[in-house]
Amino acid sequence: MAENGFGAHNQRAIVSMSGSTSQRSFFENVSLNFDKAASFTEHPSGLLDQIKACNSVYHFQFPIQKDGGYEVVQAWRVEHSQHKLPTKGGIRYSEEVNEDEVKALAALMTYKCALVDVPFGGAKGAVKVNPKKYSIAQLQRITRRYTAELVRKNFIGPGIDVPAPDYGTGEREMAWIADTYSAFHPEAIDAVACVTGKPVSQGGIRGRREATGRGVYFGIREASLHAEDMKGLGLTPGLKGKTVVVQGLGNVGYHAAKFLQEADCVIVGLSEFEGAIYDPQGLDIDRVVKHRKETKTILGFPGAKDVPRTLDALELECDILVPAALENQITAENAGRIKAKIIGEGANGPVTPDAEEVLKKRQVLIVPDMYLNAGGVTVSYFEWLKNLQHVRLGRMGKRFTETSLAQLIITIERATGHKLAPQEKERLARGPSEEDLVNSGLEDTMINAYNEIREIWKKTPGIDLRTAAFISAINKVATSYMELGIFP
Ligand code: GLU
Repeated sequence: MAENGFGAHNQRAIVSMSGSTSQRSFFENVSLNFDKAASFTEHPSGLLDQIKACNSVYHFQFPIQKDGGYEVVQAWRVEHSQHKLPTKGGIRYSEEVNEDEVKALAALMTYKCALVDVPFGGAKGAVKVNPKKYSIAQLQRITRRYTAELVRKNFIGPGIDVPAPDYGTGEREMAWIADTYSAFHPEAIDAVACVTGKPVSQGGIRGRREATGRGVYFGIREASLHAEDMKGLGLTPGLKGKTVVVQGLGNVGYHAAKFLQEADCVIVGLSEFEGAIYDPQGLDIDRVVKHRKETKTILGFPGAKDVPRTLDALELECDILVPAALENQITAENAGRIKAKIIGEGANGPVTPDAEEVLKKRQVLIVPDMYLNAGGVTVSYFEWLKNLQHVRLGRMGKRFTETSLAQLIITIERATGHKLAPQEKERLARGPSEEDLVNSGLEDTMINAYNEIREIWKKTPGIDLRTAAFISAINKVATSYMELGIFP
């Protein structure tokens, strides 16, 4: 499954509040948010310029055989910030992609990693193809060739730049990348750490597939637990009973919806590129996915109302809206019609700065992308560590923990004369599996990062959570540069 869901309109023309059309690009939007936050910091302008700039942009082209002829494919890898190495970020396969978009996404990766204390610089890659138009064999050739080009220019490696899945790519592509890189470096015992998001059998880690969606859930849950903030939105604290609309049923949207549903949210709307469905009584996410697999469309789901235009789904009545597809979905044009009180950005850049101004006036709480979808890269970091250590997380300690806990239970039973039921004993004396450790590390990361940015938000008058997130990230990257002695 690809990392993100669909993108309805990857629109570049952004209608400003005055109604005029501003042609701000995605990277300009990210830079605008950066500048806004930078004005609340005291770092010298040279340092801020260095943080903001993309350090290396590699645009290349290679031929692939197709339909008896050749096709020249465009590709990119952008390393936005090398203040920490390796740089890190996904690879996107999309017909719509362009250099500006890759730069914007790479920049967001720098800030995202800094925010959640993942010790990497930011990067992003892209291949300008629609994967649906190619056979698996062709996709494999494209992926292997793309990797070979990165090897040739030293744009990949466990300590250099480590790709991962993004829109249009998944575990399968990551396995091909690891295999190709290993073929070029047969002597490197850490070769599989050159990429993350691999299948578990190829050095992947349990819990990575669900990680971004699970992180989205942890982040929204954390935001919802602050009673004071919820009161301001006219909501009760906690997730129970909250109505949710999710845009995009890719890896991120699907898992976010699933975990929110398991936490007793009511998923009232789901949308994909062919349209959306709405049911105020709640949609069962797995049944919807099964229906879509069988009928090839989300529409016509029994008991639900069809919403034929995808973008209309964003305007459905709900408490929480999770855009989990592509960038530029909520613009100044449709922002005024959004009814959600919380927007949880599962995708990167789904709300434009102009839209944000409109939403802010209406007191909508936006939980920003660079924080909310950081679960993927957080668990990628755990996968990278696992690959460098050559041992599954928990393998050394699991049984030791179980034996110690069992011993402790026996001692308590003896001392109290109270015997526990066998299932209860089993539950209490369970040592952590790899997945338990991954999920607990992810949960801790998401909780800590939220409270860190919330604190900045609360103590800085007039800013929003996104600006707070940028301030936190900028401060961390700036500290890193200063400690390197590059800037005094
Ligand atoms: N593509 C994902 C993101 O945008 C994951 C990046 C990674 O794991 O390196 O955060």
